[in-house]
This record gives sequence, C-alpha cells and structure tokens, in this order.
Amino acid sequence: MSDLSRLTGVGPKRVKILAEAGINTLRDLVYHLPRRYIDRTKFTPIAELAVGKDAIFPCTVRSIAMAQMRMMVTVEDGTGTAELVFFNGVQFLRNRFAEGQRMLIAGVPGSFRDQLQMVHPEFQAIKEGQEIKGEVLPRYPLTMDMSEAHVEHKFLQKIALEALQGFSFSDALAETHRRDLALLPEADLLRSLHKPASAEEIPALRRQLKVRELLPLSLRLEAVKLERRKVGSAWPVSEKLQNQLGAGLPFTLTAGQAEAVAEISAFQSSPGQFCGLLMGDVGSGKTVVAMLAAANVLEAGGQVALMAPTEILANQHHETLAPFLAKAGIRAGLLTGDTPKPERETLVSDLASGALNFVVGTHALYSGDVKFKRLGLAIIDEQHRFGVQQRLALSAKGGHPDILYMSATPIPRTLAQTVFGDLENFVLKDKPAGRLPVKTRLVPPEKRKDMLAFLFKEALGGNQVFWVVPQIGGKDGSIGDRSAKEPKSARPARLEKASEDPDIFVPLKRPEEDLASVGKIQAELTAFSPEWKVGIVHGKLPAEKKEAALNAFRKGELHVLVATTVIEVGVDVPQANLMVIESPDRFGVAQLHQLRGRTGRGTAQAWCFLSIPNREWPIETYDRIAGFAETTDGFKIAEMDLKSRGTGNLEGTDQSGYGGLRFTDLIEDFELTQEVRRYAERDVKSAVK
Ligand code: ADP
Ligand code: MG
Repeated sequence: MSDLSRLTGVGPKRVKILAEAGINTLRDLVYHLPRRYIDRTKFTPIAELAVGKDAIFPCTVRSIAMAQMRMMVTVEDGTGTAELVFFNGVQFLRNRFAEGQRMLIAGVPGSFRDQLQMVHPEFQAIKEGQEIKGEVLPRYPLTMDMSEAHVEHKFLQKIALEALQGFSFSDALAETHRRDLALLPEADLLRSLHKPASAEEIPALRRQLKVRELLPLSLRLEAVKLERRKVGSAWPVSEKLQNQLGAGLPFTLTAGQAEAVAEISAFQSSPGQFCGLLMGDVGSGKTVVAMLAAANVLEAGGQVALMAPTEILANQHHETLAPFLAKAGIRAGLLTGDTPKPERETLVSDLASGALNFVVGTHALYSGDVKFKRLGLAIIDEQHRFGVQQRLALSAKGGHPDILYMSATPIPRTLAQTVFGDLENFVLKDKPAGRLPVKTRLVPPEKRKDMLAFLFKEALGGNQVFWVVPQIGGKDGSIGDRSAKEPKSARPARLEKASEDPDIFVPLKRPEEDLASVGKIQAELTAFSPEWKVGIVHGKLPAEKKEAALNAFRKGELHVLVATTVIEVGVDVPQANLMVIESPDRFGVAQLHQLRGRTGRGTAQAWCFLSIPNREWPIETYDRIAGFAETTDGFKIAEMDLKSRGTGNLEGTDQSGYGGLRFTDLIEDFELTQEVRRYAERDVKSAVK
C-alpha cells in the first residue's frame, strides 16, 4: 500500500491520481512544490484594484441585490466601492452576506461593461474584534484529474504539511555543510516552501532549495577531479608517430585542429589522469584530432580504445581508420555486439596480452571479459550518447587511462563549466576550408511535389539523399526518441502544460499521429518514379542489413537512404549532399542540427528540406523550426535548444548527473552554481589535508 494513503483524506482514488502525476511516495509529495504563490498578505485598497491582478481587502457590505439566478453585492472600504457577482448557489450564498457586515474578500477582478467586477470571489466574514491577516497561497502544478478530485492547492498544502509533521526525514545533507552554508534543516525548508510566512522570504527559500540540489553534485565532481591528480600516467608527446600519421592525411589540419592536438598532448604528458572534452560542430574534424592524441600513447607502448555509440558509427570509424593506421604499422581491431565469437575471442586475448594496441568498438568494449594490458587512452565519440555508468565502467578497466570525450553538441561556455566542470574543455571553432553552409528550406505540403522533382533530378545526376523519418512505421513504430522530451522547469516530472489555467498540467503523453514512416516514404518514392534506388536503415533491422544498406549508399549504389535517427550521429558520407527531414517538429533543434550535419561534408552546395506535415503547428513550433532553418551555427542552435527545452534536458546533462536538476536552471542560476562549486572545492581540499 502506498505510504500516501496514511495521509488524511487520501484514499485509493487519490493515491492513483497522485501517482499519475508522478507522486508516489511521501518524499515525492513534499517535493511537489508550489511553482508560484499568490501574495495575500498585503491588503489592496478598493481604489487600487486592477483587472487581472489578484487582491485581498477588508471591506463592508453596503448593499445586496438579487436578480434571477444572480446576486450582486456592493462593498466599500472608504477608498471606493466594488461589485461582487455570484451566479451559482445564490440561495445558499444569500444568507452569508448581510448589509453592514465586515468581510474579507479575495480574488482576481475582471471587468463587465467597463465596470470592475469580481465574479465568485473568496469571502470570509470578519467577526467583531477579530484580527485579520492574509497569507501566501501556494499554487501547485495540478493535473486535470487532481483538480476534478479536489486535490487542489489547499489540499496539497495540507497533506504536504501533514507529511512533514508526521514522518521524520533524514536530512540529505551533512550537518557541517548545512552549518557552513547557513541552510535550514530540510524539513523546515520544505515546510516554509509549502507555507511561507511572507512573500519576501520565498526567493531565499528557493535559493536554499537550489543549493541543496547542487551541492552533492559539486562535491562529487570536485572529489573526482582531485582523485585524478593522484592516478594515471604521463604519456610523453610522440616524436615520430604523430608526424608520420599527420603526413598520411589527405589534407592539412585546420589551425583549430593543430591547436587542440598540441593542447591535448600537453595534458597527456603531464602526470595524473587527463580527462578532456573536445567539442566541435558536426563535420569539424574531431576524429583526426583524437588520432593524433592516440599517437602519443601508441608510441609509448600503451593501448587506445575508441568507443562509438552505435554499431554503424563504430564500423565507419574502423573502416576509415584501419587503413590509415596500418600505414604506420598499427593494427586496428573492431569489437561490437556483432563480432563473431571466434573473432571476438582472438580480439579479447590480443587486448589482454597487448598484441593489439588499437581497438574501435561499441559498448561491447565495456563487457567484463574485455581487459587491456595497458589502456592509456579511451576516446569516447559522441559522448552525450553514453551514460555515466558506462563511462565509469570504462575507467574501471584499470590503469586510469586518460579519457577524451568528443561531442558535436556545443555547450555554451557557462554551462560547460558546470556540467563538465571536471573536464578540460577544447573547442574546435573552425571548419575545414571550402565547406559551404547547408541551405535549409521549409517545405509546405503543397510544395512537396516540387521538392520530389528537384531531388529526383539531383539524384539521377549523382547526388544522394538522406531521408529522415520520425518513426519506422507499423503499430510499434517508435517515435524519434528524444523528441518526446519537454521543458521541465517548474513542473513536476511527466507533466506538461494543458490549458489556459496556469496551474493545470496533463500527464506527458503523445497522441497517436499519422507520421511519415519508412514504409510510407518508400512507397511514395516508388510511386513517383520506379527509377529511384532506395535503401533503408532503422534501429530494428539486423546489423548486417543496416551495414549493407549504408555501404551501398556510401558506394553510390543508392539514390536515397530512408532512415530513422539511427543515422543521427557520426555517419560520414561526404557525397550525400541532400537531406529531407519529415515532421521536423518531432525533433529537438540540437537533434535536427546533428541530422543536418550528415550533409555539407563535401565541397558542393548541400540542401536540407524540412517537410512540414499536414497539420497545424503552434506558433512556438513554427518559430523553433524556422529559427533552426536560419542558422547553421551550432552554438546558436545549442542556445535555442536550451531556451526551448530548459537546461534539464540538455544533451550531456543527464550523464553528468546535472540532468536530475529540478529546481536549478544552469543558465539563470549560473552565479549560484559557481558559488556552490567554489565551496565544494574548498571543502574537498580541506578534507584531504
Ligand atoms: P566530426 O567532428 O563531425 O566527427 P569528422 O572527424 O568525421 O567530423 O570529419 C568530417 C570530415 O572532414 C571527414 O570526412 C574528415 O576526413 C574531413 N576532415 C577532417 N579534417 C579536415 C581538414 N583539416 N581538411 C579537410 N577535411 C577534413
Ligand atoms: Mg564524429
């Protein structure tokens, strides 16, 4: 039985309704905090009442007029008069009002025929000599069901206070931290947040809530940083191999690449475990930077593992890197979930003995039987796709290897300091020369025929098209995965905005929709012309089929590759310069940017068509997609992404632990995050002494 049912007035029905809103335990309940408050501690003179502005005031009833089904009450307070109107339960209400009586009235004034009027305000008679004082009313996020079951603001406040009163919570923070940071005990803080004594104290209370949320994360990051200084090895900068590999490149490094290689090499050569994050927009050429960093370790006899989040990407890396490394006499192995058993056994034993020094793989590299003789560098590509657990598992492979994360999702500098505060940051700002920005166009349904005709002509002329759909199709067709994420600031988990009422939310559910699917597009293309050569990749295909389609596409044997977001990261087919994205509203802008980054890798003009589905878009959606179409600057897009989704869902934050932040906004509360971090740094250091 749910703990919640121990609370007064909470029966099975309400337990169920609360559970649907993500409130399952007493802890969930006391942390289901008001998202706003109505200040009813200060009285507003009637003369100063304003339409739409909540007010509370004491007054005297001057007259009562009854009309059909309607009661009008005129009240006065010496500064003016106000009209109160009641439509429902008039017979009953009539007895609650009497001329000359003192009353406390509260609500939001509206207007009727240019007259200020309050419809069904809250009211309370004031007795002789009674001292009247207002209160701060909490406004909780509610669901429609909560509202219907009368689980509303007053009730939530009541049961939250009851829970805080009746059950003991062990404070999540240590006494010393609470003292140093002058924090209230957890239960006291929560009690005040549910029932503040004044509106003025709320900002300070909220701040404490954020500090409580940030501190454990900051302490962990600082401890990790300190630990890294004590472990790991120094890898001297390679004299020979870096030059040899560099000479084998078909291009010269950009200034940014050369600088990143030099900086990373310097960190590798100093003692301690190096952990860095290499950020660079899609197509900026991060892989070669990582390879040159790998040279330092390889030359000194260490091993290097390059980890990719998908099989497709691991295969692709292996395909391009193996011949390149072979020229310098280095063999590169490939280990994925798909590697046949005998081959896998050889690989595993070669890694353990040190016979193999370079391996590319997927999360298969994490499995327990994979051991390295001397892992010196782990390169983690598209790091936002890996969970923190997997990252730790890799570090645990012994010897405290240096770790280089690579990410194509640029993170605003302020955020990088927090989210990846334990890592050294490197940014590739320039792109290889000669790249034209991808031209992005919105295509409404009536222009679809023109788009098909254009693509067909291009395709027959040797250009190739990535065609991205949000789902595979069929009953279980899953929707473009991360698109379902919504901004979460100031709302409980799994709820989204539902109505005009600022406090009403609905459980986060996606309606079934008629989305373009892999099958539909294939049929449409074939109907347009049987000459199209179309391939398919999606997550549910067996690996060899995926690989076959991708290879055929890479070799230019297909005009079109219809794909789900499996191609989102890393796929590098420079001659494919066209992309269509169906229902772009189903993707976040950062994800769209990743997808679009599959094109524009050659020197020809690339195009990206955003196909607008045949349904209404809310204006915000339109703005978001149009804003994306206007820029190719990854940093700008990352900022747009933040604005539209809130920092809680920022790529990479989940893995850092910062994704769990409910109350702190990493951008808005940047100063506070830094303050907490400085405290954590001092604290962790002094603990060591
Ligand atoms: P990303 O940063 O997205 O991982 P890649 O490392 O896959 O980018 O590089 C994208 C493409 O650019 C590859 O085809 C790569 O060979 C090429 N490339 C990388 N550096 C340069 C350069 N300095 N000049 C020209 N092409 C480059
Ligand atoms: Mg890459």
